Amino acid sequence: MRNVKKISFLLMMMLLLTVMAGCGSSTVAQLEDGVFSGVGQGHNAEIQTEVTVEDGKIKDIEVISHKETPVLSDSIFGELKDMMVEHNSTNIDTVSGATITSVGFRNAVRNALEQAGATDEYLEQGKKISLRFGVADEEKEYDVVVVGAGGAGMIAAIEAKSQGVNVAIIEKNPFVGGNTLVSGGEFNAPNSWVQELMGVEDSVEQYIEDTLSGGDYEGNEELVRIMAENISADGEWLRDYVEVEFIEDYLMHFGGHSVPRAIYPIGGSGIELIQKLERKVHEMEIPLYTKTKANDLIVDENNRVIGVSAENPEGNMINFYGTNGVVLTTGGFGANLEMVQKYNDVIDDRYKSTNQKGATGDGVYMAQEVGADVTDMAFVQTYPTCNPLTGHLSYVADTRFDGAILVNKGGERFVEEMDRRDVISEAILAQEDTFGYLMWDETIRNNSNMDSYLTEFENLEKYGLVVKADTIEEAAAFFEIDAETLKSTIERYNGFVEKGEDEDFQRRGNLAALKEGPYYIQQVTPAIHHTMGGLRINGDAQVISTEGEWIEGLYAAGEVTGGVHGKNRLGGNAISDLIVFGRIAGRNAAQ
Ligand code: ADP
Repeated sequence: MRNVKKISFLLMMMLLLTVMAGCGSSTVAQLEDGVFSGVGQGHNAEIQTEVTVEDGKIKDIEVISHKETPVLSDSIFGELKDMMVEHNSTNIDTVSGATITSVGFRNAVRNALEQAGATDEYLEQGKKISLRFGVADEEKEYDVVVVGAGGAGMIAAIEAKSQGVNVAIIEKNPFVGGNTLVSGGEFNAPNSWVQELMGVEDSVEQYIEDTLSGGDYEGNEELVRIMAENISADGEWLRDYVEVEFIEDYLMHFGGHSVPRAIYPIGGSGIELIQKLERKVHEMEIPLYTKTKANDLIVDENNRVIGVSAENPEGNMINFYGTNGVVLTTGGFGANLEMVQKYNDVIDDRYKSTNQKGATGDGVYMAQEVGADVTDMAFVQTYPTCNPLTGHLSYVADTRFDGAILVNKGGERFVEEMDRRDVISEAILAQEDTFGYLMWDETIRNNSNMDSYLTEFENLEKYGLVVKADTIEEAAAFFEIDAETLKSTIERYNGFVEKGEDEDFQRRGNLAALKEGPYYIQQVTPAIHHTMGGLRINGDAQVISTEGEWIEGLYAAGEVTGGVHGKNRLGGNAISDLIVFGRIAGRNAAQ
């Protein structure tokens, strides 16, 4: 009797398993072999992929077209593709810091698989696979370890390597670039080759004066002088050694500078800079450990910094020893609202952030643990004209420098458009709906750099953040702006342009009338942009302790440091700072 029970139990189990297996195969259908195309919405435009299915499995994925930020997207697409092929699944985690691009890619692949017969169940089957992390899995020893692969970090590493030492970079993101990648990439340089070509008279002293006065004389003059004296030669190094390409006959004239002096990389963004730096890092065979987050500095018994302990995302701690030194180039803390508020209580969650996710102030925390001093921490710069959905800095909104006016929902101007970034930011937030509306006409558009930013324009248009219309009324209606008042504001402003004087807000620079349709209105909001404060360094990029001494073995450069910009950083000075001090830090750490 017992045995019969056992047998029937076994039979039942087998039956059940057969039914379950049957269920599985009916929902999770086999894919059809072939090559299938699919699209998904990325950050800037649609991402188009071609997916090859072989033996019912994902064999290969190719991105046919996209407009995502190049450096970012190359690593993200590569990363996701490898995981999808390996696991024959699209149920993969998104890449942190690049969610929209990741989702866009995933949807493009899913869309292609749907053509191959995939059902929703098929696409969602299984547990979500987390991205494989961490290349480093043991103790590593180098002469110099650089933490953070933004502009300052890659420059420091290249410089150290060119001095003949062994250097490695660790970077917590799966991609390089940091805030430098999403910046405009321009840098100020007095007496540069471009100024010479264009016949612009300038001097190191004038640049120092502009920088100090722009920062309300709170900046450290010694550091500013070092930046001003070195940047032109360092810019040539970047051009000749790293092969960054610049527009040879164009200079940006940012607010607060006496003359145009910002050299402009091709494409008008940090992409050119970062792509060429990354290429050089690879050419020089500098190990670059991405997805590796530095947590603590390692010190010896004499409190000398000899390395950094980092976590690969499998959770393993790895010690990276830098026997000569460690260079902190972890960027600022503009993506860490809590930290911003710790030092500055004016900024609250009405502000978005232009910063990439990695800008969380890690370097400051790590260095403070070993006794480092900080400076200027309360000085946080906001940027007034950002994308209200994402917080990204809007380059389309640079029409402000070409004559666009800023109005509110009532159709009235409310601030001088060329005022300081903090003043304009607060003025925008004081408006009833906390938005500003930037308005320009076709003539201003044609005098601007808009052609470099068409993708951003299309993207803004898609999300209803900019409108192009034949008449003022039509443009105003799109954002429910009071059209009658707007028309009289424009009429009054055009009168000022004719007189050559803005009687309402004393706007500086050239005034441009708004007369010729189509008209454009863009909705903008302020966001946290740059943290001027950070680690106290000396002219050798050595990190100084609260006791006023160099913490041996520790160097820092770029936005993680404080002192150069004082209360307010002038446009184009972040890159000048990171180039000069990145090189100094790399050179000194190598010795
Ligand atoms: P900078 O302009 O000073 O070069 P960026 O913002 O361009 O600064 O670059 C800083 C880089 O440092 C970013 O890529 C960021 O992800 C990286 N980073 C920040 N914190 C850490 C950390 N704890 N470990 C490794 N990398 C980090």
